[in-house]
Amino acid sequence: MSEWLDPIPVEDVFEDGWVDCDGCDTRLTDELYSDGWGGCFCRPCLEALVEEWEAEARRYAAENCRITQELPEYDPDQEYRPTPEEYRAGMRDAYTPNAFMAQCRHECTNYDALIRNLYPRSLSARIAYQAIRDRITALLIDAKPDVFHEFDADGW
Ligand SMILES: [Zn+2]
Repeated sequence: MSEWLDPIPVEDVFEDGWVDCDGCDTRLTDELYSDGWGGCFCRPCLEALVEEWEAEARRYAAENCRITQELPEYDPDQEYRPTPEEYRAGMRDAYTPNAFMAQCRHECTNYDALIRNLYPRSLSARIAYQAIRDRITALLIDAKPDVFHEFDADGW
């Protein structure tokens, strides 16, 4: 959870050097925590919100993430990574479990549709995005454990 809690010096945001917490009205003069929508909170208030958002995001991801079509075959014998020279020349298409994971995520799941409307700067959306991404990863690992055994779905 603490990965989401990033203190901001109050004086960086408010010239007067203070703001009241939107949750509990405590006056903040040292650090504030932002929800990314313009809300300013003390740490305990934002922590409580993050906990709610995480539970909600997890529930949403569990209910909505889906594999939408059969995954293509992956042939380890074709594995290929561009050299730095090739990469710089614009030949960036690797054929690796990682590249295959990205391809499957976009082509064979509803990942893109689920994240499309998330407002990227809001904290609740970033939490939702992470839950969706982890859940999709878990589904793909389940579908092809032999290809994706090195991936971690963060507890799913
Ligand atoms: Zn508060």
